[in-house]
Amino acid sequence: MEEPKNSATFSMTTLGGFNVLFTIREGDIKATKDLVSLVVAVDKHFTEVGFKPQVKSFGGGFPKKEKEYTGDICPKDSGRLYHMVTKTGKDMCKCENSKYDFTTKTSSGCDFIAWGKNLEDAKVQKAKWNASKTVTAFEADNPNF
Ligand SMILES: [Zn+2]
Repeated sequence: MEEPKNSATFSMTTLGGFNVLFTIREGDIKATKDLVSLVVAVDKHFTEVGFKPQVKSFGGGFPKKEKEYTGDICPKDSGRLYHMVTKTGKDMCKCENSKYDFTTKTSSGCDFIAWGKNLEDAKVQKAKWNASKTVTAFEADNPNF
């Protein structure tokens, strides 16, 4: 009876966007003795070809959203600004250099925030707020915006 061979399965996305499974077994390639170096060789090859590892998504299968850069540059540190929508549905732009630590619930890095779809929109929004004389606490702390 033949011994069951060790195998490794790669789950990846091809250049065309197809998700494929690719299983290799120990001994598939004669020159490669053990599975680990076989995996390393295959991994290197896939990387060279440009295949991307398939990212497993949990709980609903929504792909992680790519950052939506607005094309604006952060006035504080020249980082790229990206647009996001807050839980309350407000448009907001953050600097790519801002970090949020979910364990300590503190943010670090660049603290620049603009309330709008982009810097231009944020100025329009601010003008509206100024007109209605409702200045948020954030606005009061950040006179530049
Ligand atoms: Zn910044």
